[in-house]
Parts: sequence; structure tokens; C-alpha cells
Amino acid sequence: TVHVNVRARVAPLGAHHVLLLIEDQTRARRVEEVRRDFISNVSHELKTPVGGLSLLAEAVLDAKDDPEAVERFAGRMRVEADRLNRLVQEIVDFSRLQGNDPLDEPTLVDVDRVVSESLDRTKLAADAKDIDLVGECEVGLAVYGDEGLLVTAVRNLLSNAVTYSERRTRVTVTAARVGDTVQVVVSDQGRGIPEADQDRIFERFYRVDPARSRATGGTGLGLSIVKHICENHGGDVTVWSQEGQGSTFTIRLPVAGRHQDRGGRSA
Ligand code: ADP
Repeated sequence: TVHVNVRARVAPLGAHHVLLLIEDQTRARRVEEVRRDFISNVSHELKTPVGGLSLLAEAVLDAKDDPEAVERFAGRMRVEADRLNRLVQEIVDFSRLQGNDPLDEPTLVDVDRVVSESLDRTKLAADAKDIDLVGECEVGLAVYGDEGLLVTAVRNLLSNAVTYSERRTRVTVTAARVGDTVQVVVSDQGRGIPEADQDRIFERFYRVDPARSRATGGTGLGLSIVKHICENHGGDVTVWSQEGQGSTFTIRLPVAGRHQDRGGRSA
């Protein structure tokens, strides 16, 4: 059975004829539902840090005469404010990506730049946990797309890898050509993801362990942003993981040929 939402309109066409217009509204309704869902999720997610900040502000006011307590509360306020910041940034990233449509104006992007930029942006967090962050990229790899979005995708994977790993472990990112695709693989030795959750982690706001993820500042949007970016680039992202054994995320994108193939020779 196929359920469709149709809207029918009847317009008179002279004395003996009418025009019957039947429009399939299924997609429009679905888009509207997704939009409403998203807004309700976002409002819910924003309430947590905002509520936290407001309680902490009260606590600071009450503890005026106790400098140590004030410092403690102020530290927690900073954590909440950072989370709020990240959430707003991810909502902005996400809203740029609604839909799975291909990119408007793809350009030739060097994969080694995407990898090194993503590493740069993750380094501070990795250093703070003494995590060995290692990157390797085959020379001359390129894809068509949007460099900024691709950096966001790889950076989100790297930042998850660091977040969900213990101190003094290793996180790697490698990029290589495999057939007609560029594969960017991010691996960690972290806690892993239970099999039952592996299909769902790419959904918006889905977290394996909501309380723990919130405690680390997670928003539950990161992987859905990665998935959208990959799809916008004609590629995909998959996960392999075993609890306690770490996780490996693989982004696959259509290859755009090597640098030395540019200009004249076919890619
Ligand atoms: P979050 O902001 O909560 O990290 P994501 O969409 O990036 O949201 O990830 C969704 C969930 O998937 C996370 O809450 C976490 O439970 C799980 N996850 C993502 N990456 C990893 C990883 N490298 N190791 C273990 N769990 C992970």
C-alpha cells in the first residue's frame, strides 16, 4: 500500500468543464515534518545549557562571600557556555546542509589539505588527553566539493575519536585512493559503539549514552552533519566498531584524479 497526501483543487473552465488539479503533497509534508521535528529537538537541546547557566548564575550570586565556590561555579558556567557555542555552530552547519542535494558549485579540493586542516583543529583537544594524533595522506589526491564542508566532516570524526577515547591512546586518519574512490579513514582505540546503536548514530541528536555524551559537551548532531556532507558530495560514511575495541569511520568520496593529471591530460 502506498500512502500519499494529495491536494485536489477544482477550477471552473467555462460552462461545461472543470479543471481538476491533483497535487502530490507527500514530499512537502515530509519536509515540513522534518523541519518541525528539528526545531523541537533544537529547542529541547538549547534548554539544557541555558537552564544550567541560569542555575549557576544564581549559585554564584548566593556564594558571593565564598571565592572558592564562585570560582567553581564560574568554571562550570564556562563549560555550559562552550557547549552552547558548539551547539549553535552545529545548528548553523546543519541548516546549511538541509536536504541531500548535490553541491551547487563544487571545486577541486586537495585531500591532504582537508586532512591537515582537520588535524590542526583537533590537536588541542588531543594534546589535552595526551592522545597520539597521527595523519597520513597519499600525495596528489583530490575530490570535487567544498573544502570547508569536507574539513567539517573529517574534523567531526576526529573530534569524536578523541572525545570517546581514554587518555594516552592513538587516533589516526588516513586518506588513500581505493579504485574510483578516495577513502578517508578515522580510527580510534576508544570505547567503541554497541552494535545495536551503530545504525542509529548518524541520526540527528542520537547518542549512545545521552548523559555521558552531554557531560563531554556532545550535541548528537556531529555524525548527522558528516553523513549529510558525504551525501552532498556523492559519497557515504560507514562505521565499523566493537565495544571496547575502538571504532573506525570510513568516508568514501568519488575521486577527482591526481594533481599531475590536471591541465590537459585526462583525470
Ligand atoms: P555527539 O555530539 O554526542 O558526539 P555525534 O552525532 O557526533 O554526537 O555522535 C553520536 C553518538 O555516537 C555519540 O553520542 C556517541 O555515543 C557515539 N560515537 C560517535 N563517535 C564515536 C566514537 N569514535 N567512539 C565511540 N562512540 C562514538
